[in-house]
Amino acid sequence: DSQLNPDYSFTNFIEGDCNRLARSAGVAVAENPGGTAFNPLVLYGDSGLGKTHLAQAIGLKTKELYQDKTVLYVSANKFQTQFTEAIRNNNKNDFLHFYQMIDVLIIDDIQELAGKEKTQNTFFHIFNHLHQSGKQLILTSDKAPIELKGMENRLLSRFKWGLSADLQNPDYDTRVRILQQKAYKDGIVLDMDVIEYIASNVTNNVRELEGALISLLAQSTLNKKELNLELATSIIDKLVKNTKRELSIDYIQKVVCDHFSLPIDVLQAKTRKREIVQARQIAMYFSKTLTKASLASIGSQIGNKDHATVLHACKTVNNLMDTDRGFKTQIDEIDKKLKM
Ligand code: ADP
Ligand code: MG
Repeated sequence: DSQLNPDYSFTNFIEGDCNRLARSAGVAVAENPGGTAFNPLVLYGDSGLGKTHLAQAIGLKTKELYQDKTVLYVSANKFQTQFTEAIRNNNKNDFLHFYQMIDVLIIDDIQELAGKEKTQNTFFHIFNHLHQSGKQLILTSDKAPIELKGMENRLLSRFKWGLSADLQNPDYDTRVRILQQKAYKDGIVLDMDVIEYIASNVTNNVRELEGALISLLAQSTLNKKELNLELATSIIDKLVKNTKRELSIDYIQKVVCDHFSLPIDVLQAKTRKREIVQARQIAMYFSKTLTKASLASIGSQIGNKDHATVLHACKTVNNLMDTDRGFKTQIDEIDKKLKM
């Protein structure tokens, strides 16, 4: 089983300026896996912009064109879990063997391996084996390879062997076409003014665009109301107000540094200066409370620390908030800035 979702096909992937390069590289790879210069193909970009969809589309297309090839889609988290289990059960060799037999290996959200040295090391060997045997690797990441932190250099340098293509936020015109396609797939006819209203107001990423359409349909069905511009306006306005931006760890570091008037790169420096240590701890605390990143991943992105340091930082900040009112005020101010 390839673990591919048939909905994530090229047919369902709307092309626009935001994804043209990534999409055409993907088509080339699917038509000739392992045989193009795009090996590995690294697809990167912010959350909700279509990395998983496009990576799976390549897998689906490959399977359609080459029935005898083994294609596997796996998230980096699942890869990590499987690896840990293999070690615990003493069958690392079976694990390696399994992965070395694959013709097209898709690993999603590779940034999740940040700070996980043993898994990275094993992935390095699998990568080399597959690449040398002319097999195709497709990786996705929320950052460009050069910006990935907590990754072994030898692995990063291999990511650069092929092509890194980014996915950007779709422009208005592409948003309109995506909405039209989604509505069509669901068998619904939407007035153009409704589509235009959604496309003008829901602008963060494709996932939110889809979410908006789904709430609209759900509410009009539930309340038996016609899905006209009036209903769309009231629902979308509420939705946009309530959507909390998903904060990035880079952004959190920037806001914390701004707040204390520190240069942004200072959190990466190996310094024990009290004020910097504390700013770093605060950035770690907010990364833990406001993002879904793991302790290890936060640590690797903020000053290249381990998960225990991040855990300690969170405890320290929590304690200080309980005991030091001035400190608590600072935290509240930063919190407000982050949620602005
Ligand atoms: P990511 O992996 O980058 O976070 P996903 O691939 O999960 O994003 O995409 C989020 C949602 O948006 C999915 O349901 C996907 O089908 C849809 N989507 C993204 N890009 C497009 C596109 N160009 N055309 C149609 N749907 C898209
Ligand atoms: Mg994804």
